Amino acid sequence: MDYQLSIPAIVRRTETLFGDRAVVSRRPDRTVGRSSYAEVLERTKRLGAALQRLGIRRGDRVATLAWASQQHLEVYLAVPSIGAVLHTLNLRLHHDDLAYIVNDASDRVLVVDESLLPLYEKFRAHTAIERVVVIGSSPGPGYLDYEALLAEADLAGRRDVDVDEQDAAAMCYTSGTTGRPKGVVYSHRAIVLHSFGQGMVDTLGIGERDTVLPIVPMFHVNPWGLPFTCTLFGAGQVFPGPHLDPKSIADLLVSERVTLRAGVPTVWLGLLQELDAHPGEYDLSRLRAVVVGGSAAPASMIRAFKERHGLDVVHAWGMTEMAPLGTLCNLPTSLRDAPPEVQLQYRARQGTPLPFVEIRATTEQGPAPWDGSTMGELEVRGPWVARQYYNVDGPDDRFTPDGWFRTGDIVTISSRGCIELTDRAKDLVKSGGEWISSVALENALMGHPKVAEAAVVAVPHPRWDERPLAVVVLKPGQSALPDELVAFLEPHFAKWWLPDTVEFVTELPRTSAGKFKKSALRERYRGRYMNV
Ligand code: AMP
Repeated sequence: MDYQLSIPAIVRRTETLFGDRAVVSRRPDRTVGRSSYAEVLERTKRLGAALQRLGIRRGDRVATLAWASQQHLEVYLAVPSIGAVLHTLNLRLHHDDLAYIVNDASDRVLVVDESLLPLYEKFRAHTAIERVVVIGSSPGPGYLDYEALLAEADLAGRRDVDVDEQDAAAMCYTSGTTGRPKGVVYSHRAIVLHSFGQGMVDTLGIGERDTVLPIVPMFHVNPWGLPFTCTLFGAGQVFPGPHLDPKSIADLLVSERVTLRAGVPTVWLGLLQELDAHPGEYDLSRLRAVVVGGSAAPASMIRAFKERHGLDVVHAWGMTEMAPLGTLCNLPTSLRDAPPEVQLQYRARQGTPLPFVEIRATTEQGPAPWDGSTMGELEVRGPWVARQYYNVDGPDDRFTPDGWFRTGDIVTISSRGCIELTDRAKDLVKSGGEWISSVALENALMGHPKVAEAAVVAVPHPRWDERPLAVVVLKPGQSALPDELVAFLEPHFAKWWLPDTVEFVTELPRTSAGKFKKSALRERYRGRYMNV
């Protein structure tokens, strides 16, 4: 019973049982590559041997900067299999943040897509990465070629590493509510148990007969853990590469007979428009589940998928700090015969916790009753919930003394344990599935000579789920135009971080403690982007 729950154990199982199942990946030139798990795992071993040859040892960090592809899956499996730690870099971050993250994690090797080399070039001078392996064609001098590395790998020289289930297998960085991004480390055990939890019939029921298309970037919490779950259960995997427009996704769903797909609402809203615009053109009869998470799935979208395309949306909630799946919304038996409107209302909630994930909502007065109306901050614990951030010493108020993680999400919990997110306590904006730090924008705005005070809040947006809106108080006697302030921010942030709107006010609402009362601002500007 002391069997180690590890990624090598996942790989061994797939190798022996599911060698013929397909791994499909659309390349940057739009051609579709097809491999089997047998081929992928052979290449995974070669990559492991090559990384060992480059000096990668147990605990060393190997970073990736890449789109979703078969090669990326190979890195996902190869790195933890030799006891090293997979560190996926978010290719949408500003290069200063990437440099910070690479240094914080002490990444030694980087595996990068050829198309993302220009991004790497922007921060390479500020990092100490030793070797860079390029996926794609003909890298210049100083780079290693991924395919050549695999071809030359000495399999006989590959050393098996005795991986302990508590060892680190992978890590991701999450936008801190304040300050720099923070690293979260996943142990082998956490990933294996998370895969188990995700595969069960009452959750996503992922099995050998499935073909799964995650449209979640490979840098975002290991595409919700799906590459590991699919490998464990032998489900086919489809990787979309850099082509994420609705038509490309719809074509892939049809041609690969995808049974389960997962992504943030923005992606599905785009797909919905494509399906609506071309009725009957796409045969999605194989699709059994549309998993939506990362931001709230709007009820209107859930209804449209059901009524117009016969597809049930499974709403999921999770976090980087929990590998990431926490809750899922499957309709309970008690609502099987309920009117469609009641079912819809239920499906728009974030759902009930996975096995071994425990939840509670905390108010200033103590634990909130599970009555479906008392709001509190959601706290979680479980075998795939982080206990601390990487490299952060000292107490952190996100982790309670009695072992729970404070999510920063404000919820109600029903008598049957179904959560509904009502607000967010953390100062972050989630745009198209990616975080924008409102605090960083505020601090920068307050550096403008004309600005006295600035607050940035998340405002609901029909396409991007949320977009930042800045509320500014100017210094006495000053006047400014919104564009002037946005231009001031531009050099310091990725373009998609910039606030869409700047509102000028004479005073910002405050809490009794004197902080900006962002909940009041969120409420005031709630409808601001709804008709854009
Ligand atoms: P991340 O760490 O980037 O995965 O983001 C986690 C956060 O995204 C959660 O704490 C929520 O604020 C938000 N989130 C994730 N899933 C949902 C959902 N289904 N509905 C609303 N917000 C969500």
